[in-house]
Amino acid sequence: MSSYDDQIAGYYNKLLQRNAGEPEFHQAVAEVLDSLKIVLNKDPHYNDYGLIERLCEPERQVIFRVPWVNDKNEVKVNRGFRVQFNSALGPYKGGLRFHPSVNLGIIKFLGFEQIFKNSLTGLPIGGGKGGSDFDPKGKSEQEIMRFCQSFMTELHRHIGEYRDVPAGDIGVGGREIGYLFGQFRRLTNQHESGVLTGKGLTWGGSLVRTEATGYGLVYLTEEMMEANGESIDGARVIVSGSGNVAIYAIEKAQELGATVVGFSDSSGWVHTPNGVDVALLKDVKEVRRGRVTDYVSEAEGAVFNPEGSIWDLEADVALPCATQNEIDGDHARKLVENGIKYVAEGANMPSTAEAIEVYRENKLHFAPGKAANAGGVATSALEMQQNASRDSWSFEYTDERLKKIMQGIFRNIDSTAAEYDHEGDFVVGANIAGFKKVADAMFAQGVI
Ligand code: NDP
Repeated sequence: MSSYDDQIAGYYNKLLQRNAGEPEFHQAVAEVLDSLKIVLNKDPHYNDYGLIERLCEPERQVIFRVPWVNDKNEVKVNRGFRVQFNSALGPYKGGLRFHPSVNLGIIKFLGFEQIFKNSLTGLPIGGGKGGSDFDPKGKSEQEIMRFCQSFMTELHRHIGEYRDVPAGDIGVGGREIGYLFGQFRRLTNQHESGVLTGKGLTWGGSLVRTEATGYGLVYLTEEMMEANGESIDGARVIVSGSGNVAIYAIEKAQELGATVVGFSDSSGWVHTPNGVDVALLKDVKEVRRGRVTDYVSEAEGAVFNPEGSIWDLEADVALPCATQNEIDGDHARKLVENGIKYVAEGANMPSTAEAIEVYRENKLHFAPGKAANAGGVATSALEMQQNASRDSWSFEYTDERLKKIMQGIFRNIDSTAAEYDHEGDFVVGANIAGFKKVADAMFAQGVI
């Protein structure tokens, strides 16, 4: 037991009392505080000036009503959120999630994770997150547009190029960013490109942003495998989800010679022993906005499974790219049994604390989301750079920068883990490397 265990437990207990009913937020904080015990033993000054308590308290939280009218002329009411967690390194930056499960605790967990992730990118961005309990599934195009317009009617007061720059997340892709940006422009009478990222290419968007999270995940996975003397070329890979992150992780993994043997959505999972037809998957999900069953009905050799779990498949690499806590302890034990050696998180916090313990006990190579999926926000920051200089970069140049950033993140978390005597523990490496940069900036800027 370290001499700081009691103090950290005290911070955590107080946080539990002050943030009741927010289990995902508690989970995300607990994991980081666990790593901070290691930091404090070596660098006790990080315990000064209430730094850790300040870090766990959002700078600002906005909760608002989002009324809108559906196609039957009925008034619907949703709840909107924007949690501006930490701006020590730069303007708040983080996506918007539209999903019926969204509540304050989920947005706070995502915003908290975002602080460290953004710090790891090495770019000047703070951490924030937002969204709504609106469910885009089954809604018409007009309903989605009216919802986005109502959401932005309140949100626009709180965001800006130098203040807070939202992007997409679950349920928010290019279409929604378009409607949100349109309403922002109308309300402010300014074409402030830097206010949102993930924009269309003709009005301030960046090449590679759509692909960035999935590609970045695979670049980091490739680096992690190479550091262990192995290659992704020839590996069998499981990817959960079939949204933005999953699709581009599948594309890049197969481009590098891997076979993706399964993917999923919330209705079930698909076994693809001969790999995924990426063009068909994109057509089904991005153009037709269909389900994985539509893919199966048109693809050769793909089998749909409404029961069981995608984590029952045998493979070498698992890339969870759907949502939080999708891998519990039992799933993690299955992964071990089935020969998985590498897990890299495309989603935010897809592994429970118990699952992470199983990875540790069985010496899996595990890259946590705050490092492995940082390519999305990193490329958003590159979009902000292009907007600020009224420039647009080529696909190749932007992709190369993304790749370098992901390689740099891997080197950073690897060397930080070793520096703190936890060689190979990339959870510890990511938490500590992300933390120190933010903490140093907070010290320099005083008690605020
Ligand atoms: P999308 O909305 O594009 O896709 C989400 C996918 O996950 C869909 O296949 C969806 O299935 C599935 N899914 C969502 N919720 C659940 C659930 N409760 N149970 C089972 N399946 C579910 O989102 P993204 O691809 O953008 O995001 C996926 C993950 O990656 C999230 O954790 C997000 O926070 C994280 N992330 C995203 C980034 C980005 O740039 N987009 C950046 C960094 C992290 P269905 O369609 O059936 O709901």
